[in-house]
Amino acid sequence: MAEVNHNSDNKEKKEENKDKSIFGKNLKNNITKGENKPKFSPYWIYGIIAVVFIMLNLMSTGSDLPIVDWYKFEDTMLKTHDVSRIVVVNGKYAEIYIKKEKLTEEKYKNAANKESNPLTGGGAQYKLPILDVAIFSEKLDEAQKDFNKEERVSVIPEDRKDFFGDILSWLLPIIILVAIWMFFMRKMTGANGGNQIFSIGKSKAKMFDKGNKLNVDFNDVAGLEEAKIEIKEIVDFLKSPEKYTNLGGKIPKGALLVGPPGTGKTLLAKAVAGEAHVPFFSLSGSDFVEMFVGVGASRVRDLFKQAKEKSPCIIFIDEIDAIGRARGKNPNMGSNDERENTLNQLLTEMDGFGDNSGVIILAATNRADILDKALLRAGRFDRQIHVELPDVTEREQIFKVHLKPLVHLDADVDIKFLSKQTPGFSGADIANVCNEAALIAARRDNKTVSKQDFLNAVDRIVGGLEKRNKIITKDEKRTIAYHEAGHATVSWLLEFANPLVKVTIIPRGKALGAAWYLPEERQITTKEQMLDEICATLGGRASEQVNFQKISSGALNDLEKVTKYAYAMVSYYGMSDKIGNLSFFDSTGQNEYGFTKPYSEKTSEKIDAAAQEIIEQQYLRAQDILNQNKEGLIKLGDILLEREVIFAEDLEAIFGKRNWESRSDALDKEIEKDKNDEKLLSDKTETINNNLTDSVNIT
Ligand code: ADP
Ligand code: ZN
Repeated sequence: MAEVNHNSDNKEKKEENKDKSIFGKNLKNNITKGENKPKFSPYWIYGIIAVVFIMLNLMSTGSDLPIVDWYKFEDTMLKTHDVSRIVVVNGKYAEIYIKKEKLTEEKYKNAANKESNPLTGGGAQYKLPILDVAIFSEKLDEAQKDFNKEERVSVIPEDRKDFFGDILSWLLPIIILVAIWMFFMRKMTGANGGNQIFSIGKSKAKMFDKGNKLNVDFNDVAGLEEAKIEIKEIVDFLKSPEKYTNLGGKIPKGALLVGPPGTGKTLLAKAVAGEAHVPFFSLSGSDFVEMFVGVGASRVRDLFKQAKEKSPCIIFIDEIDAIGRARGKNPNMGSNDERENTLNQLLTEMDGFGDNSGVIILAATNRADILDKALLRAGRFDRQIHVELPDVTEREQIFKVHLKPLVHLDADVDIKFLSKQTPGFSGADIANVCNEAALIAARRDNKTVSKQDFLNAVDRIVGGLEKRNKIITKDEKRTIAYHEAGHATVSWLLEFANPLVKVTIIPRGKALGAAWYLPEERQITTKEQMLDEICATLGGRASEQVNFQKISSGALNDLEKVTKYAYAMVSYYGMSDKIGNLSFFDSTGQNEYGFTKPYSEKTSEKIDAAAQEIIEQQYLRAQDILNQNKEGLIKLGDILLEREVIFAEDLEAIFGKRNWESRSDALDKEIEKDKNDEKLLSDKTETINNNLTDSVNIT
């Protein structure tokens, strides 16, 4: 029995190996092919060139005679009657032949061809470069004018073909040209390897497989529970399609992952491939685009051809909006034929392959609204999986994943606390925080990573680098301090403003000072909450007005923010009595160019007036609050000037405890309560744009 088992084990192993070589990269295939049947390889040309050069070098040693100049030649050879023959070659140099019997003399010890064969006449002993044959002859005659007739040596001209030199002079340019051409062709065939010259139309998809690194599974993806459930089904399709097809169901062809950048869409797709143990083609939408017309479509064709060969498999197209954007209606305006051809080809291919061919396409985008409707219809990307920014509990799980590599953590690092400090962060941001914290700790030569390192990393990612040596005058600093103190005071005293974390006047990134809040991650925002938010944001400028009766440009960022809030309240959320319950929000994103407004001039005037009124009222309210609490405000401003950073505790000391509990505290309590009841949190699908809350108010 044991042996049988052993055998089957072996078989399995072999199977696995075979698998790898089939799925391995093209390159691998080439190598194995090469062993069976030596093919012409371009490397041979390099070899031939090298051999030719070596040969040329060897051949040319014939003219490597010791060189003498005229004077030495005249004095020590010619005048002593040692010269037997002078041969002028090609009119360029003279070969000097020394009489055999004289060669034994000391002065000829460096001569060449001393032992040359007398039968063949032997070679010359020296070489004398000459510029002009006529002058050389004249000089020779002049030097020999006292000689006897028999003693005289005359010039024998000789034409010698420099065979290799000639060949080289026309071969070399050709060789160089061929080499350059081959170099570029290899470049163009690029990552696909392969010897096809015109592979520009080949898909640029990167392929991952069991053989190459792709060790992502669902454990690496934290949070995203709903998305995971959906996507696990896809894994199931790939693993056991019969289960579904037997019942007459069709396997979906594609799923679209929609969500902000860095939320783990790519990660999720990789996990699918990793779990399903199928090949995974990964490419970006922009990979289809090239400057040549028709390339995109051809690449799509090639991609699907490759994928079908490897089926079952997954194709992952990142940033699909690069090609999938809605096709223009008016061909003369902003349309892009090449992109549309590529998209058409993609649609055709998705329709074309049979339902059960086992190729599933995953695509990611952060703008599903601008995608062409044709892509989203049933039978193509018929599933949309929403991947949202993580909430507190999901952030906690993501932190757990990314804290794993950091082995030396201080005891005070609390994952719950960190996830509360990072509202609005995506998974990628959290990964970045963990890495940055480790780097900060290393920079301080710390052996462990502390809580403060994490907080510094968060600050740095939100606000940019600290710039302590920015030059700021005392007056400017005072203005900044009172501005920030204004934000802090107003937000502390308003029920719905975001709870403050700290206020600094240390310049960071582009900001001169900042008030840091923990945004309430609300699912629904009320009008009162928005108004309080606007009021707190105007608190900076109001404080300048109240304290110095002067206002500054430092409020630019604040004003930009409140203007957007106010207009959103009026024209999107229907929160103004003057406009009523109208919303001009366009969730389809189709009306991108905004040439025409969906409302009349009159309405647009009303919108402007309503927005102005909101901001004006809140500005006055902020001033009121600050005037009533001027004593505390001044105290706060002075502490801030002195210490540069103040925390919520300092505000509590001045203004007393806030009477309202923050949303996250309330949520914590509810969760505690729910745990007892074993009840799930109310459904979170009704998400209203909660991006209105930003975590920093910068000056
Ligand atoms: P996207 O494709 O949505 O822009 P990625 O999938 O490329 O984002 O995510 C970038 C990185 O962020 C991942 O490599 C991973 O380290 C981290 N990350 C994002 N979301 C998560 C998550 N839910 N769990 C764990 N890590 C995550
Ligand atoms: Zn401000």
